[in-house]
Amino acid sequence: MKLIDGKQIAAAIREEIADEVRRIKDQDGKVPHLAAILVGEDPASETYVNNKEKACKKVGFDSSAYRFPADVKEEELLEAVDFINNDPEIDGLIVQLPLPPHIDNQKVIQHILPEKDVDGFHPVNVGRMTIGLPSYVSATPYGIMEMIRRSGLETSGKSCVVLGRSNIVGKPVSLLMARNEEPGNATVTVCHSKTRNLKEITSAADILIVAIGRPEFVTADMVREGAVVIDVGIHRVPSDETRSGFRLIGDVRFDEVAKKASHITPVPGGVGPMTIVSLLTNTLKASKKEIYG
Ligand code: NAP
Repeated sequence: MKLIDGKQIAAAIREEIADEVRRIKDQDGKVPHLAAILVGEDPASETYVNNKEKACKKVGFDSSAYRFPADVKEEELLEAVDFINNDPEIDGLIVQLPLPPHIDNQKVIQHILPEKDVDGFHPVNVGRMTIGLPSYVSATPYGIMEMIRRSGLETSGKSCVVLGRSNIVGKPVSLLMARNEEPGNATVTVCHSKTRNLKEITSAADILIVAIGRPEFVTADMVREGAVVIDVGIHRVPSDETRSGFRLIGDVRFDEVAKKASHITPVPGGVGPMTIVSLLTNTLKASKKEIYG
């Protein structure tokens, strides 16, 4: 079994981005700038936004966070998006989800200019990705594809099973794995909560991508000998073996599946670091106007 070390791959990409930022700064004097909108005081969202700001700093990006109380009016949020859309200093904008229930997530996302939508959630970017036009691809699926590419894993002609069909992971990664490009060209099956004979389907996969949101759901009997297993899940569970009192696990029962897999991503240190670095990659592309010219 070979571990797919997302942490190491992400570190290498960060280095490349930091080099590029130094070059851009010398040339233009301006560095890429990522803005984030955060509504309410959800600790997990706060942590995500703080981590994104730290990641920006590490590679030399500017970053700014626009914080709003949980009872902010939708109109006010849309005005903030307009303001950022019109600020030439800001290259990319992310809105930390979920938003409070009185705000229409889609309305806010669709208010972001596709050119600044570095999360790749705007329907224009999703549509462009679907038909193979240049687009921002959302960070987790982008990170998974980059991890596969940099690990030199063969995908063409392979059977790929994606467990989960969410808009942010399962659906886009299944489209990317099926595209006529490398990595891609796989024969993809998408599974979800209504899928029958799940074990039979997952056991036939050369590549199994798991984004189901259920701790250690995938067990060794669901995996083919020699399969590549990508575990997207992240769950914080209590542990008396760590000082913090918790540990992170994935959607795959790592210990037993690792014995059968040819390659597998760990949790933590697999898809997670690739997601953050992919947001930086998208922001760099935005600052260089690579997607929309
Ligand atoms: P999600 O929106 O909850 O989607 C889960 C998918 O799994 C749905 O399509 C659901 O089917 C399917 N599913 C649920 N139970 C099932 C079952 N028993 N059998 C078959 N399919 C089942 O989750 P998500 O946002 O894609 O996230 C998945 C996991 O990845 C979570 O643990 C999340 O925390 C993690 N995540 C990690 C990163 C990262 O950076 N590492 C990024 C994003 C998400 P239906 O459509 O039929 O409901």
